[in-house]
Amino acid sequence: MSGHTNMTLVNENGIRVDGRAFNQHRPFKVNAGVLKNADGSAYVEIGKNKILAAVYGPRECHPRHLQNPNKAIIQCKYNMQAFSVSDRKRPGPDRRSIEISKIIAEALENVVLTELYPRTSIDVYIEVLQANAGTRCAGLTAAAVALADAGIPMKDIVSACAAGKADDVVILDLNKEEDNYGQADVPVAIIPSTDEIVLLQMDGNMTREEFDNAIKMAIGSCHELYDLQKEALKKRYEEKEEDESS
Ligand code: UDP
Repeated sequence: MSGHTNMTLVNENGIRVDGRAFNQHRPFKVNAGVLKNADGSAYVEIGKNKILAAVYGPRECHPRHLQNPNKAIIQCKYNMQAFSVSDRKRPGPDRRSIEISKIIAEALENVVLTELYPRTSIDVYIEVLQANAGTRCAGLTAAAVALADAGIPMKDIVSACAAGKADDVVILDLNKEEDNYGQADVPVAIIPSTDEIVLLQMDGNMTREEFDNAIKMAIGSCHELYDLQKEALKKRYEEKEEDESS
């Protein structure tokens, strides 16, 4: 997020580096139940991002001192594979992945009925296989589907998409160049049935009006993702029914 570059990110016709219009998101793809040994799983592609999420639980909580007698805790591990970016990413946790794990777990706590499973842990693993900006949103979108696939009671799923600003234009779903050289990046996650915001961050600067526009565009995109998330889960249940009847 430098905001300073000679690179044109939005040209005079309003076209972005990858050919998109200001309000266009990258192509989305969502699949549920992609891993056999996890209780729930999902695979998400958003543009060049490729992300797997796996869920285990509710199960015994380790470390035990984290147990909550009133509800389950959600433990999330967001991890970027060394091969997921063009410069090899140093393996293991870093400040960024610890932050992203925390905000994703907090966003999910708004929808999971944790009070049904006191003293347990619901473990969410997010593996970024290929990254091109927007991985926290794509990871959260995948994690929500994986939780539903695990059959964990939730009041709704969560959908996430970023918006931001580049070359003084408010744009939807920033890619890597726009994230690196643009002026602002605002990841947003909502509970689509109520439009309640469960994750909101901002890197860079925008006016109040630009910010309102960015939020509106991001929420619109979350609703489109929501339809795909529901479709993926429906497809998964149909497959399960077929497996059981054969
Ligand atoms: N990135 C990278 N190496 C890193 C961390 C990030 O190349 O160690 C890239 C990656 O493509 C990522 C993007 O920078 O998607 C933007 O990272 P940011 O921290 O803004 O999070 P994200 O947009 O992925 O949620």
